[in-house]
Amino acid sequence: MKKLLPTSTVGSLPKPSWLAPPEKLWSPWKLEGDSLTEGKQDALRISLQEQQASGIDIISDGEQTRQHFVTTFIEHLSGVDFKHRKTVKIRNRYEASVPVVVDQVSRKKAVFVNDAKFLRKQTEKPIKWALPGPMTMVDTLFDNHYKSKEKLAWEFAKILNQEAKELQDAGVDIIQFDEPAFNVFFEEVNDWGMAALERAIEGLHCETAVHICYGYGIKANNDWKKTLGSEWRQYEEIFPKIQKSNLDIVSLECHNSHVPFHLIELIRGKKVMVGAIDVATNTIETAEEVATTLRKALDFVAVENLYPSTNCGMAPLSRNVAKGKLSALSAGTEIIRKELGL
Ligand SMILES: [Zn+2]
Repeated sequence: MKKLLPTSTVGSLPKPSWLAPPEKLWSPWKLEGDSLTEGKQDALRISLQEQQASGIDIISDGEQTRQHFVTTFIEHLSGVDFKHRKTVKIRNRYEASVPVVVDQVSRKKAVFVNDAKFLRKQTEKPIKWALPGPMTMVDTLFDNHYKSKEKLAWEFAKILNQEAKELQDAGVDIIQFDEPAFNVFFEEVNDWGMAALERAIEGLHCETAVHICYGYGIKANNDWKKTLGSEWRQYEEIFPKIQKSNLDIVSLECHNSHVPFHLIELIRGKKVMVGAIDVATNTIETAEEVATTLRKALDFVAVENLYPSTNCGMAPLSRNVAKGKLSALSAGTEIIRKELGL
């Protein structure tokens, strides 16, 4: 990445209302068949245009072609039964009806590769593609086959690696793995979660990222955050392991969170996507607020390693709020670029 302080989003952005009703998760498609395929491509074009118009440097797909960051990927795999679902507690926090692993899991064909090729053709800017991480996938379904989280995570890691290699070949510059589960199951992260993630990036030569956050701005997550006290030190449990890993970039929740900035010191040397936009409020940050968060991070991240970003995905927000937040991110980053004479 040549430009210093390149801005990006974590991933999801609101979809146009003609494609899926906005401001909710698992929003159902309004189109079907060929119209749906065409609609998703149009949404990708709009999302790209809005990111570029807001001054975003690393373009993501805005997750316009998927209903949900985990389940859409799982839907494309064999060995998973989506009809006879079970209710589980996701990240020990909220109940959800999830698919069941009934047989050996495998990927019969690529999941997002055609979408990535489409986006690649539309822009010269670097593009980033998000995939769910193995541990978060395991936490978002019921396993009735492997009966071992570790074994299932390893199988998912192999599948993710196949997809990631094809995304890389399609011209994706950064592949990001979303692992919100890393912020909850520390012992398992250190035991096998990180190893599974490293298996997922094996042999890749594009840049790789892991996104670890406190979740979308939905009620269950916001209620959980209230129980975490005045200092959120979850990252401290897993950063030493991440620091030693082969991952290039770590994406973190920082703005309006109670994460002590000095914890970032524990991943010194990694590139850090610093969340300078709160996705749990409709209030649009001022440029100065964004700049303040970035300034605090600069005490612990070298300027060439700092990637201004959002705390998490913005799918549950309105389009106008999301657009406002993207512009604030760019404007706040510009303040820092000027200050540093970049
Ligand atoms: Zn997130």
